[in-house]
Amino acid sequence: MTTLIESDEHKALRAAVASFATAHTDTGDLWQAAAKLGYIGVNLPETYGGGGGGITELSLVLEEMGAAGNPLLMMIVSPAICGTVIARFGTQAQKQQWLPALADGTRLMAFGITEPDAGSNSHRITTTARRDGTDWLLTGRKVFVSGVDIADATLIVGRTEDARTGTLKPCLFIVPRDAPGFTHRRIDMELHSVEKQFELVLDDVRLPAEALVGDEDAGLLQLFAGLNPERIMTAAFAIGMGRHALAKAVAYARDRTVWKTPIGAHQAIAHPLAQAHIELELARLMMQKAAHLYDAGDDTGAGEAANMAKYAAGEACVRAVDQAVQTLGGNGLTAEFGIARLITASRVARIAPVSREMILNYVSHQTLGLPKSY
Ligand SMILES: Cc1cc2nc3c(=O)[nH]c(=O)nc-3n(C[C@H](O)[C@H](O)[C@H](O)COP(=O)(O)OP(=O)(O)OC[C@H]3O[C@@H](n4cnc5c(N)ncnc54)[C@H](O)[C@@H]3O)c2cc1C
Repeated sequence: MTTLIESDEHKALRAAVASFATAHTDTGDLWQAAAKLGYIGVNLPETYGGGGGGITELSLVLEEMGAAGNPLLMMIVSPAICGTVIARFGTQAQKQQWLPALADGTRLMAFGITEPDAGSNSHRITTTARRDGTDWLLTGRKVFVSGVDIADATLIVGRTEDARTGTLKPCLFIVPRDAPGFTHRRIDMELHSVEKQFELVLDDVRLPAEALVGDEDAGLLQLFAGLNPERIMTAAFAIGMGRHALAKAVAYARDRTVWKTPIGAHQAIAHPLAQAHIELELARLMMQKAAHLYDAGDDTGAGEAANMAKYAAGEACVRAVDQAVQTLGGNGLTAEFGIARLITASRVARIAPVSREMILNYVSHQTLGLPKSY
């Protein structure tokens, strides 16, 4: 790759993260260890203990962690969504309280937008905030929210009472894990992942005025500021996982011999692996474009690129994992080789945070100007 796309600093960061992630076999304290080296808060402002970089650097870190077989799903949420939203729109007190701790890994924040009855249609969310004196009372339900058990707080997307119907006018609240009326129940997922998903109930959760992030009337702008990094980071997550699966498959194909040559000499095995590599590289290129636009302050341009990157990376990851399983034959389904579990994991990037179909809708409507079916 030329310096036009990735600087020498980026290449050095990539190499450092790769060797850290490969050497660090104890996943238990991986987050803390990565944070200590400045990897988790690399995108957060230097004045608040971060690295002063952007989503370009953060996505690079997550991709390399994933390529080494150690993806940190909460990087998509804690520094990328929550850290970005607070850094850009939070009050001075919120920045002081959260950013240094998110950067050094001592605190973690989850993010909850998905609701059981709204799903992909976030305009339909009904989690409602009503004023009670200077306090807010938050009521609603969320589903599939990752990492609530390990997060000190969850950034909850709701809407104010006077904006309960019509187009979405969201508002974002920081809800501490132990807030009275805030409960979480683990969803039994078929995923081998340290990060779990939860259903949340908010039953008149009383929050002080300071729990509202930024401006009540600028919620949509704030939300989008967080969602572009979320898509870019999900692309990084998917590319890392795809590379991990591909590397295992290539190593196996070079070695495994059942006729005269290693199976990797058969084009039926080699070509789909080459194709997977090309698709992952292409997805990364779009991810880098999206991250570059986002870091340059072009939220609108980044929106289209981030969606396309997430789409391309999700598809490339699913195909790379599928071909990796096939390459390993029976071993592709053993626990020992650890590829089969990626079949489920790779689907995450096709479904979340926005599904493949909703991205195709976005491109159909926003880019191509085609009419909507809904
Ligand atoms: C592992 C995992 C982690 C997650 N973590 C979080 C988290 O931390 N926080 C959070 O808030 N959420 C999280 N989510 C939720 C995720 O963002 C949603 O699952 C996703 O947005 C899809 O919503 P849904 O599951 O309700 O599907 P639905 O909206 O019910 O969609 C079901 C299917 O219908 C399709 N569909 C829907 N509408 C249309 C349409 N108009 N045109 C064409 N097809 C359509 C979809 O593409 C999909 O294939 C997570 C999900 C998973 C699986």
